[in-house]
Amino acid sequence: MNTLPKLTPIVSPWMEDIIANKPLLEELIAEYGSPVNIINPKSMAANYGSFLSTLTDFGLSHGVFFARKANKCRAFAEQAAALGMGVDTASLQEYVQCLEMGIDPSRLIVTAAVKNAELIRQAVENGSTIILDNQDECVQVQAIAHRLGKQALVGFRLSGFQFGDEKQYSRFGFDLEDFLPFATEALTGSDTFGNLAYQGLHFHLNRYSTQERGMALGQCLDLASQLKKAGLDTKFIDIGGGFLMNYLQDQSQWEGFREALEKAMLNEIPPITFGNQGLGLFVHQGKIEGSLGVYPFWNDRPQGKFLNEVLSHRHHGGQRVGDLAASQKIEIRMEPGRSLLDQTGMTVARVAFRKRDSRGDWLVGLEMNMTQMLSGSADFLLDPFLISEEENAEEEVGVYFTGAYCLERDILLKRKVALSHLPEVGDLVAFVNTAGYMMHFFESSAHLFPLAANLVYQEEAGAKAQVHHFRQEVE
Ligand SMILES: *Cc1c(COP(=O)(O)O)cnc(C)c1O
Repeated sequence: MNTLPKLTPIVSPWMEDIIANKPLLEELIAEYGSPVNIINPKSMAANYGSFLSTLTDFGLSHGVFFARKANKCRAFAEQAAALGMGVDTASLQEYVQCLEMGIDPSRLIVTAAVKNAELIRQAVENGSTIILDNQDECVQVQAIAHRLGKQALVGFRLSGFQFGDEKQYSRFGFDLEDFLPFATEALTGSDTFGNLAYQGLHFHLNRYSTQERGMALGQCLDLASQLKKAGLDTKFIDIGGGFLMNYLQDQSQWEGFREALEKAMLNEIPPITFGNQGLGLFVHQGKIEGSLGVYPFWNDRPQGKFLNEVLSHRHHGGQRVGDLAASQKIEIRMEPGRSLLDQTGMTVARVAFRKRDSRGDWLVGLEMNMTQMLSGSADFLLDPFLISEEENAEEEVGVYFTGAYCLERDILLKRKVALSHLPEVGDLVAFVNTAGYMMHFFESSAHLFPLAANLVYQEEAGAKAQVHHFRQEVE
């Protein structure tokens, strides 16, 4: 067999302890079913610390709001608040649950893409900042705030930033060019929106270009100066989420994977993905084209480093945007989701069967389905861990993991994964670092499969011997 490229994930000690404890995992799966998600919210602290150190280096007043939507478990929102963060909420349910946890409404922001009347009413009543996306929302929030006799604290989401020759498209937000005339006319020139209290600007961009983020921040700073002339004082600029995290240990493996994928697609080596899928790459006239449609699972600028690059962008080649914001006393806010969940969760499933398909490939059926570990990108490129009794020094084997949905495409990882030996029925497979979006953002209950249990890992304080306590998470 040709050797399959490996993608070795970074694994924190708490995960290693669990992976090494097969009896414990068997107990959990016997009790809760397969798969189980195991989360460790305490591990958020290091990620938050990384952002904080960059923000304080710049001397910025700041607000970090954990994007609640990156994981459903309430324990993460609780932990975010305990660490001193705010929470970015994207639905009435997320918002109300945070209130019920006792999080101060001034530390909650509402960025929901669609805001129903009750969400708006609660946010206005409690004094949480609402990020407005369009004029219809302004009208609705105005009406509700007027009825309540309150001022609604509002920020405005912007898009359409200019990056060189390209004006970046987004379906979200007000167009940057339209916003100044709108704000001067509607927010200050009349009392149409007399109950909207302008607080600041917001953007959340796709792609992982720190330069684009820096440019967008620069364009918001310019806009803030113009708004000031119109009498609108910008208290904050919220630069959204999408800060990178790094999943993998080794850059050369990452590069090796891509090389192998290209070779496989050109039929120079046997396929390394199911059906020889290109994950965004394709072959055209004998050449590889397209772009790899996966998250940059390996990168060298996670968390605070990424933020530092954004804030270090030189505005029109001059001052750093972070310094400009600091000197203009504008608070920098951000809403990381995934990157705050780095090393905070894993998913473990039980092997149901092994078989060879008609192509001669090994398929390993797991008691889970594709929605229980689904990446928004083309694949989740981390090697899983096989947890099994016996390592008979058998031959390495390449397998595809398949799921329980009756769909041909329920292939859990598109990659063929190299295992030290063929698993036995009843062995376990652990996928690490799945808390950010992977474990249940897209989870569904087709076939009436119950949703996976979410268990909170708690270390015994000060205990030498590892004691694990698990509390089942209520969503
Ligand atoms: C999804 C989202 C975030 C969080 O993005 P991450 O990639 O998880 O950091 C923040 N803000 C808004 C408006 C979002 O839609």
